[in-house]
Amino acid sequence: MVPSPPRAKNARGDESLFQTLLATTVSGVVVIDEHGVVEVYSQGCERLFQYGPEEVLGCNVSMLMPQPYRAEHDGYLKHYKDTGEARIIGIGREVEGQKKDGTVFPIRLMIGEGRVNGKKVFLGIIHDLTALYSERAGRLEEKAHLSLIVESSEDAIYSKALDGKIITWNNAAKTMFGYTAAEIVGQPMTRLFPPDRMGEEDDILAKIFGGEAVKRYETVRLRKDGTPLDVSISASPIRDASGTIIGVSKIVRDISDRKAQEAHLERLNSELSHVARVSEMSQVSAGIAHELNQPLTAVLNYTNVAKRLMASEDPAALVKAVEAVSKAGEQAVRASQIIRRLRDFLERRETFRTVENINAIAEDALALGLIGSKAANIKTNLDFASSSPLILVDRVQIQQVLVNLLRNAVEAMAESPRRELTVTTASLNGSGVEVVVADTGPGISEEIAGRLFKPFVTTKAGGMGIGLAISQSIVEAHGGTIRSVPNAGGGTIFQFTLPAAPVSS
Ligand code: ADP
Repeated sequence: MVPSPPRAKNARGDESLFQTLLATTVSGVVVIDEHGVVEVYSQGCERLFQYGPEEVLGCNVSMLMPQPYRAEHDGYLKHYKDTGEARIIGIGREVEGQKKDGTVFPIRLMIGEGRVNGKKVFLGIIHDLTALYSERAGRLEEKAHLSLIVESSEDAIYSKALDGKIITWNNAAKTMFGYTAAEIVGQPMTRLFPPDRMGEEDDILAKIFGGEAVKRYETVRLRKDGTPLDVSISASPIRDASGTIIGVSKIVRDISDRKAQEAHLERLNSELSHVARVSEMSQVSAGIAHELNQPLTAVLNYTNVAKRLMASEDPAALVKAVEAVSKAGEQAVRASQIIRRLRDFLERRETFRTVENINAIAEDALALGLIGSKAANIKTNLDFASSSPLILVDRVQIQQVLVNLLRNAVEAMAESPRRELTVTTASLNGSGVEVVVADTGPGISEEIAGRLFKPFVTTKAGGMGIGLAISQSIVEAHGGTIRSVPNAGGGTIFQFTLPAAPVSS
């Protein structure tokens, strides 16, 4: 016979409150006597265990447990009765339940002990943990998956806590830097920094704490053996559950191969530019000889005059002799300037940028580019920016661009009735400069207009067709642009821009 459940009453002696509670509690509620016989089995339990109350009430509660607990449960009760030693009562534990269809599932079981009508009873409240467990399992799986990705990544991935010490270090980091995780975890991250880059980490941290991500930042780090390594770094914050930043993780890519290729390409480019400069000047060698001959002849003439005047006893003649010598000196300076410009221009050199005044570059370029143009009867108009804007450039390379444009303009006007060359430098509202070279030649031939800046495009018998291609690559490497437009009155205008030098603080 199924025993009737113990009756509980509220302050007004109302039993139905207990029944309502049993019926509506989502968790399962079970009451057993001291032998483990089920006296109360709530609707919540029906949903959890799939048994109806008629199948459970009056039976041993162990039927709701999987083995080995099922077999051992009577022993637990007896042990408690004999010793009073509680293993679960009053504590609550995560254990397993077993459904009617045999499915074992995780539950949180909380047991209380009491007396009803003088009889000892145990009250069990059961929460189903299936959803929680599967969520936990999902999270674990996700974590395992993530750590697999991190470990198999070709990029070094490591992280540090806010005290600057490294806390994780993947396989690629070991290969890239030469430290094992055991050697580097717990060490300050600055161990990877070259001495001249120690300040970088503060900048990165400031950005991260300002909510800014640091992406593909190119820099240098040190391997364990002390050799430098070119890297690109992305850094992001690590946050705890409340969103507080507790560390920084970094993804680091070895870019040394790319850097070596870039350096190689830069060397090739500067070789090519050098060849182009030599070729450009070799075409005007006669003009250069003439250009040098003029001041040297003048030096000779002035010194001859001075010699003669000094032979005279007349004091006035001596004053004139001094004048002649100083004029000879001026001419010698002119000649040496021409030689300096040529030597600078033709020197084989590595690329390097300095802050320069565009007008000074233009002046040097004009001196070289217009060699021989006087003989060609070319009228030159110069309109230089009064503010003398500063740019951060490789001086000789920018000179080379201008010399090329000037030489092309001079050559283009060789057969023109009107020969006017206009060179303008202008400041672009502080953002950079624009340089314009305009001629009154025949304009760009249609045949090559679309390919003007491609290498080996030339309409000249002895032309190499690399001047404009090199000019474009120089201007673009400096962050500027170059283009050509027709000159309204006939001829061509070449314009190029260069960004302003960064303002140093
Ligand atoms: P190259 O001078 O050796 O031919 P460039 O690359 O400097 O090589 O010039 C390519 C071609 O562009 C020239 O052959 C010429 O046809 C054309 N070009 C360049 N500048 C001018 C100009 N100012 N007027 C007309 N055509 C020009």
